[in-house]
Amino acid sequence: KQSLKDEMTLKKSLTLANRNWSSKDFPWYKKVVEVLETTFKLPGFRPHQLQTVNAVLSKEDTILIMPTGGGKSLCYQLPALVLPGITLVISPLVSLMEDQLFALKALNVNAAMMSASATREEVNSIQQAMVDKNSKLKMIYVTPEKLAKSKRFMTKLQKMYELKRLSLMAIDEVHCCSQWGHDFRPDYKFLGVLKGMFPDVPILGLTATATSKVIVDVQKMLNISGCLVFRASFNRPNLFYEVREKPSNQKECFDSLVELMKTKYAGKSGIIYATSIKDCEELMQELRKRGIRAGCYHATLDAALRSKVHQKWLSGEYQAVVATIAFGMGIDKPDVRFVIHHSLSKSMENFYQESGRAGRDNKPADCILYYRFADVFRLSTMVFTQQTGLECLYGIVAYCLDKTRCRRSIIASHFNEGWDTSDCNEMCDHCRRPREKKEIEIVEYCRSLYKLIQNAAGNDAKLTAQMLVDAWFGKGKANLRVSSVKVPSLSREMAEDVVGHLLIEGYLAEDFHFTPYNTISYIKRGPRAAAALSEKATVKMCVQGARKTEINKGSPKANNTINSEKKAKVENNARTKSETTKAENTMKSEK
Ligand code: ADP
Ligand code: MG
Ligand code: ZN
Repeated sequence: KQSLKDEMTLKKSLTLANRNWSSKDFPWYKKVVEVLETTFKLPGFRPHQLQTVNAVLSKEDTILIMPTGGGKSLCYQLPALVLPGITLVISPLVSLMEDQLFALKALNVNAAMMSASATREEVNSIQQAMVDKNSKLKMIYVTPEKLAKSKRFMTKLQKMYELKRLSLMAIDEVHCCSQWGHDFRPDYKFLGVLKGMFPDVPILGLTATATSKVIVDVQKMLNISGCLVFRASFNRPNLFYEVREKPSNQKECFDSLVELMKTKYAGKSGIIYATSIKDCEELMQELRKRGIRAGCYHATLDAALRSKVHQKWLSGEYQAVVATIAFGMGIDKPDVRFVIHHSLSKSMENFYQESGRAGRDNKPADCILYYRFADVFRLSTMVFTQQTGLECLYGIVAYCLDKTRCRRSIIASHFNEGWDTSDCNEMCDHCRRPREKKEIEIVEYCRSLYKLIQNAAGNDAKLTAQMLVDAWFGKGKANLRVSSVKVPSLSREMAEDVVGHLLIEGYLAEDFHFTPYNTISYIKRGPRAAAALSEKATVKMCVQGARKTEINKGSPKANNTINSEKKAKVENNARTKSETTKAENTMKSEK
């Protein structure tokens, strides 16, 4: 299987990382520490920074995977100052680059940006510096679009390379190269030419996205397969993960959000993610009607307005921002106490990134996802045209449908990270109030659903997921019901879970149809239908068993406080465990 091959490839890369990259014996060590202290005014390195700097200065192509806020920028900014010549920094967003340039200026570091909005003089002065060995310029920031479009700039780069003035190529948000990431950008494909054109210059890719699939794909795209990969732990010990059943009644749902914000999160700051711009606006209105100070943030607001909303939120004037995923990169508010997903994210990657904006100050914060069966299909009709859209979506559906496993362990296995059950420290809903795991047999349900689908087809009809569940419960149009199909002795929610489970396991599949106004998802038999129909077929689903009362010592008040001793232990663990060992554990323990 491809994923196994990816695992093996990545394992090799991680084994490379096992060499003693954090050694102080490299010839540049003194200089590195001097620049860290005098230029960056930092007292020491964070985990993985020294390793990465050493690797880059050893001219190794390297990928660094580190959660947002971990300190990736330093890993190219510091080498840029230690190396002779100029470092090229490729970054997807002008706003991110502006932030960095601003910070660098304050440190007296000479850096510049090539953007579409640069003036003639700025462009000229940059291009001159590229070929002038007396220039003090140390870094040039550029978007991939600019690289791909400007032949003139590429020519200058070539010249700079010939003069041995190109010292390092840093590619920020490098997952944008891969269709498997959460943020694919076609212009990143162009970066594949860099290694061939400038073979002597090391590439440093940086990202917070860690699946083997994405990383192996990125290596291929950049022609640096098998390169060194450093991977920091993704566990965020202070975040409490929880999935809640989303009320099907909209008003009830708004009320429950408001209730949370007026009690548990009173006076605290947070983000509420919604699926569409319309949802954002509506949710904001409903919150305001109920007395909550909230703003909304999405792509169709103009830049000035967006920045105003952002400012009001930073200053505390708004308790919450209701946002689409446009509210993301570059958001760095330390004291976000809650991130609520009003509906599903598009993928586990997205969910991790979005929820990860909580608790940057390392104090406890909550990540709550409201799950409802119907939302799956709102999203699936949005993402199915993307190559990996459905597969990614079903990943997060699996996270929501899981009734017993530790939420953290699901996230960890998604990022191919090793996991100890004790690592959670009761910081997820399932670990805080654990339940017995119970398996039920659902193959008969599956066959009933096939009968309903077949019957509908016979009547020249197709069933949406809702219609399918209706028909199963003997509701909806009479000709869509089948008398030999028994109404299941399940709650509606449970029945929906069964359909969801069959869908993500491939026993059912979605069938998309375009209409002039929207896209409809119908349900058909999935690729594994034959297996479910075979004589001895069995399809299992895990459900919640009895509550393990003994283990649950936490009082409701203790919700959200994390014992500081325990926390220290967790943090310590996260630091000392070699990531490579973790990766190896993963190979043994996961699948
Ligand atoms: P990332 O790109 O991984 O999201 P950044 O490079 O933007 O993270 O850094 C996040 C913050 O961490 C910045 O404010 C930066 O100044 C700070 N930081 C980076 N390295 C260190 C360090 N060694 N010690 C203290 N603070 C650091
Ligand atoms: Mg960054
Ligand atoms: Zn847990």
